[in-house]
Amino acid sequence: MKAYLVGAGPGDPGLFTLKGRDVLARADVVIYDHLAAESLLSHARADAELIYAGKQGGNHSMPQGEINALLIRRAREGKLVARLKGGDPYMFGRGGEEAEELVAAGIDFEVVPGVTSGIAAPAYAGIPLTHRAWASSVLFATGHEDPGKAGSAHNWEAMARSGATLVFYMGMKNLPEITRRLIKAGLDADTPTALVRRGTTPRHRSLLTTLGRAPAEAAAHSFSAPALIIVGRVVCLRDTLNSFEKRPLFGKGVVVTRAREQASETAALLEELGAEVILFPTVEIVPLDDYSEVREALRGLAHYDMIIFTSVNGVKHFWEQLRRTGLDARALAGIELVCIGPATARALNGHGLEVDFLPENYVAENVAEGILEVYADRIADMRILLPRARIARDALPKILGARCVAVDVLPLYETVPAEGRRDEVLEKLASGDIHCVTFGSSSTVENFLKLIPAETLRGYPQIRFACIGPITASTLEKAGLPCHIMPREYTIPALVRALADEL
Ligand code: SAH
Repeated sequence: MKAYLVGAGPGDPGLFTLKGRDVLARADVVIYDHLAAESLLSHARADAELIYAGKQGGNHSMPQGEINALLIRRAREGKLVARLKGGDPYMFGRGGEEAEELVAAGIDFEVVPGVTSGIAAPAYAGIPLTHRAWASSVLFATGHEDPGKAGSAHNWEAMARSGATLVFYMGMKNLPEITRRLIKAGLDADTPTALVRRGTTPRHRSLLTTLGRAPAEAAAHSFSAPALIIVGRVVCLRDTLNSFEKRPLFGKGVVVTRAREQASETAALLEELGAEVILFPTVEIVPLDDYSEVREALRGLAHYDMIIFTSVNGVKHFWEQLRRTGLDARALAGIELVCIGPATARALNGHGLEVDFLPENYVAENVAEGILEVYADRIADMRILLPRARIARDALPKILGARCVAVDVLPLYETVPAEGRRDEVLEKLASGDIHCVTFGSSSTVENFLKLIPAETLRGYPQIRFACIGPITASTLEKAGLPCHIMPREYTIPALVRALADEL
């Protein structure tokens, strides 16, 4: 029916265009490349056909002819086809050739430009390609052609004379030859030169050098494809303008062990500060088999004087069951609402409810003390409901129970160990890409250590362990591993801030 060539942008999913996202959301078929950020595929329909046409260096997993034929075949089947290509489709991506094929086959097509890596990667590295004082033009070139061959497509002398900022795509393999040709054509060997690898992604790296020293330094720092070579005086602005690389957690690999449902807030905060987040959910949150007891308790809510919510998940499941029982917020009228921690309180606010008591300290022991103090005059007569996971620490009901306070625990969901991406994490540990592992609860510590034993972790003494609070930390220490980082306030935002200060 119609084919779209869609630019996926340079890697940062935030640099994908709104139009690209709309096309992806409508497409029946998505054919994507290696350099197109895989996370963009989440914009595709759940029932869309996703085809990987990957190209990695010289490793073409699907020959260009086959990609073209596939594009045409699917469009002829009446499908809406999105061909997702890294950066901009018409910048050195064979987008032009694919478009020509589509037109020749009589297929309606449209191009959706993308942010090309040649502009975005230098920008994130602090390099504006033009600057009133330093460069009045830019030249984008392929570094892929064999510069040694007779009749090189490039006019090296013109390039050298132009005064333009030069940006080479696909040039890493030919770096020695490219720099040699430019110097021979008249550029000073001291001309500032930058290499930017995997620009705009969490693995973004840049290297500042000179034309003459670039090949040796690239080799010394193992700077390989995909990377851009940027030549010209604008490169010197990098040290002043590279705020992206100056973010506190830039270049740090941080493992998040929370359940998938809870990990996204943590991941977003970490990524904001530049971290590469490795999601490794060690627990999975699953519903109970039987909710009859829960429904009964909810129908009898009027008997309770206080509800203590201990987690965002607890609030979520409580609400779901409340609705399924045919009740709503009015069922909580007159009941004191207590939350452990501000995130839980916000979840409750989301249902139009204010919290009556939010303790200053979020460890169960202190919460219990806080409640006993604030409600001292009537606690003896209060009945308390504690909705939470089926298996959890008993500290809160125990302490309150010991003071003769009636607490009914209401199991709402189950946390079970998740398989996780064990091999991927082991690989990253070995390659030194993991700098920190974060734990938000004792159960994540226990489950993580079941998948990756403490023994293995002791082999990487450079890794920092961060725990949300003292209980989690002591679970880790009991397993023989140190807790290096713990925030003063036991919340995820505070944990992320502590990482930013101490990593
Ligand atoms: N159409 C793409 C370029 C495809 S050619 C675009 O507009 O960006 C592939 C080359 O692009 C790679 O060899 C590398 O030089 C460059 N490239 C792509 N993504 C990159 C990134 N995130 N950082 C640095 N270079 C990148």
